[in-house]
Amino acid sequence: FTAEEVTRAAIERIKKYDKKYNSLVAVCEERAVADAKKIDEMIARGEDPGVLAGVPFAVKDNFCTDGIETTCCSKMLKGWVPHYDATAVKNMKEAGAVLVGKANMDEFAMGSTTESSIFGPTLNPRDITRVPGGSSGGSAAAVAAGFVPVALGSDTGGSVRQPAAFCGVQGMKPSYGQISRFGIVAYASSLDQVGPLTRNIGDMALLMDVLAKEDANDTTCDAYERPSFTEAVGSASLAGKKVAILTGFDRESVDRPLVEAIDRAAAICREAGAEIIEAKLPITMEHTVACYYMVALGDASSKLACYDGMRYGHHADGKNLSEMYKKSRMEGFGEEVRRRILVGTCILTRGYYENYFVPATKVRQLISDEFKELFKEADLLICPISPALAYKRGLGEKDPVRMYLGDVFTTIANLAGLPSVSLSLGFTPEGLPTNVQLLAPRFGDAELLSYASIIE
Ligand code: GLN
Repeated sequence: FTAEEVTRAAIERIKKYDKKYNSLVAVCEERAVADAKKIDEMIARGEDPGVLAGVPFAVKDNFCTDGIETTCCSKMLKGWVPHYDATAVKNMKEAGAVLVGKANMDEFAMGSTTESSIFGPTLNPRDITRVPGGSSGGSAAAVAAGFVPVALGSDTGGSVRQPAAFCGVQGMKPSYGQISRFGIVAYASSLDQVGPLTRNIGDMALLMDVLAKEDANDTTCDAYERPSFTEAVGSASLAGKKVAILTGFDRESVDRPLVEAIDRAAAICREAGAEIIEAKLPITMEHTVACYYMVALGDASSKLACYDGMRYGHHADGKNLSEMYKKSRMEGFGEEVRRRILVGTCILTRGYYENYFVPATKVRQLISDEFKELFKEADLLICPISPALAYKRGLGEKDPVRMYLGDVFTTIANLAGLPSVSLSLGFTPEGLPTNVQLLAPRFGDAELLSYASIIE
């Protein structure tokens, strides 16, 4: 097939079936076909079109895309069209991949269900009575529905990995500093990281080879010689490695099939020659959710201050400047985003800052230290992604606190900057995806993918 044929087929499929799932909020048909034609021309000229030549992909709607509306699925940014591509998008295109659409998400990446988008909710292609997870639920659903083989999301506290888990695809949050965040609309900059969603670990390694590069536009993206991720996966071995299984949390509070998935993963590791040990992380397990929400919301309230009704997107008239700010922000942001800005602003205020934000940054350091100790002994850690299988629809709005508590396992990787893979491992008899989370030391991304390829 030519790149053009593949692109047209993907777009036809999206047009025909995505009415049901609402995974994509924009399809860039004309541009995609033009880009695919360029790839075909390069091939005809005998030039190298790149390792992803003609592969259709989707990106979450918080990635800036040149000439294509980028809204974060918020009224606040509706109508805003960037004039440049995020570095991650640019790298995908330079490797020959063809951008076919922008994926649905929770407004400003705040959420776990992809139900707070102005474009309406995304449904889980595995079971439409359930959510696809969030906030990158559109990206995960688009891969699960077979619209695109690969998609990009962003992960601040689990937003790539939890939707991957709910939709039965593979998702990764690389080490902090592995992939450039340039051109991604920030939620909480010290936690945010770009993450690929794919059908298998081989594709994930390929995407990591394309995406993990230093970038002069993002000083938090580390300048170091990255290993070849595909080579690491090609020479994978668990023989003689130590695999830690997380204990010290209530196994009864995690859905049974997810506990069984951990036991299955441990058995595969043992068979592959690894030694299984137990890991207790007392500080991490007790404080991770509280610490995450302090750090993330403090960061978010300052990042989202730039939406003032003047510079980007939504504007409302007011009698004076202060009223204009208030009205624009009140109308532009949805309920969950407003709640988070309020909490974040509160904890950055004098008095609360010393009592909430500063202690949270100290706890964050303790969590990182606990992992440094653990990884002196272990090569890999296995734990759940989420305490629950894919949620039924409607829970996010009814019970936001339950959603926050559901982030207990994913947020540890963001707080400590560690690489983490959400590995899909089969289905329950009812057809719901089961999965485990794999974590490795910071910048051990290539080893992590190699272990994941054995367990997959
Ligand atoms: N569910 C988490 C939150 O709402 C994760 C968000 C994310 O990773 N963007 O904050």
